[in-house]
Amino acid sequence: MNFADLHLHTIFSDSTYTPEELLKEASKHGLSAIAIVDHDTVDGIEVTLDIAKSSSVEVIPGIELTAEYDGLEIHILGYLIDYKNKSFLEKLDNLKKTRVERIYKIVDKLKDIGIDLNPDSVFEISKAGTVGRLHIARAMVKEGWANSLSEAFGKYIGDKCPAYVCGFRFSPEEAIKLIKEMGGVPVLAHPYILKKDELIPQFVDYGLMGLEVYYPEHTQSMVNFYLNLAEKYNLLVTGGSDCHGNAKPGIKIGSIKIPYELVEKLKEARP
Ligand code: AMP
Ligand code: ZN
Ligand code: FE
Ligand code: FE
Repeated sequence: MNFADLHLHTIFSDSTYTPEELLKEASKHGLSAIAIVDHDTVDGIEVTLDIAKSSSVEVIPGIELTAEYDGLEIHILGYLIDYKNKSFLEKLDNLKKTRVERIYKIVDKLKDIGIDLNPDSVFEISKAGTVGRLHIARAMVKEGWANSLSEAFGKYIGDKCPAYVCGFRFSPEEAIKLIKEMGGVPVLAHPYILKKDELIPQFVDYGLMGLEVYYPEHTQSMVNFYLNLAEKYNLLVTGGSDCHGNAKPGIKIGSIKIPYELVEKLKEARP
């Protein structure tokens, strides 16, 4: 049987893996297909597709769009999107700028609580990729402001923490509709992390087409719960590891392997 991992990041957002490394790791772990879903960017897709031509691993183009609802961050995966569409690329460019502004806002809030993090130390880590909280957490550890990433998130920059800033521009409705307009398949990422299952029917009304049922933090009972929900609302089922390379050493590529059959269903469902 063939397997896929449909939730992977690259250096174009907040993973340490280059497209080359990602493909090498994917083939080492026996994956037939992978999806690249960087946060709010498609910059890594073309280069990865090019390198994949000489690899046995199939690359599914995707994105993990950040939306905001009621001060909460909601991640919508978009598979098989038209990553060359001009107006889409412009919108993503705006998001990139929003993310940079957000770093300064978070740094200001950190300053208020006595943490004097230099924003340049964050941008040095993110380099050209879309910048986010994982880069802040890494910079905090590097500069000695936190002992670990989980301390950085748990005490300072995680949801509901003193230096948390949301500030994303899309609503879930806009994110879902945009992915569909770009010919993609919108899927709700890691629903258990969100802990807002009551919103799912509304998202389905907006056009949501799938649930990320298989995810490292989902227990078997959660998997069963979301499988039932997917059946009830006629949604596709996806899954992936959310591997960020060495930025999150505990989460390995291929730690979630879904049957390739689910990739075929995703392709058939493309609007
Ligand atoms: P952002 O898009 O900037 O809000 O950052 C999202 C990134 O932060 C994703 O890679 C998440 O996996 C990561 N993240 C969010 N909360 C935590 C946490 N508590 N511990 C580790 N990483 C987290
Ligand atoms: Zn990330
Ligand atoms: Fe996510
Ligand atoms: Fe992710």
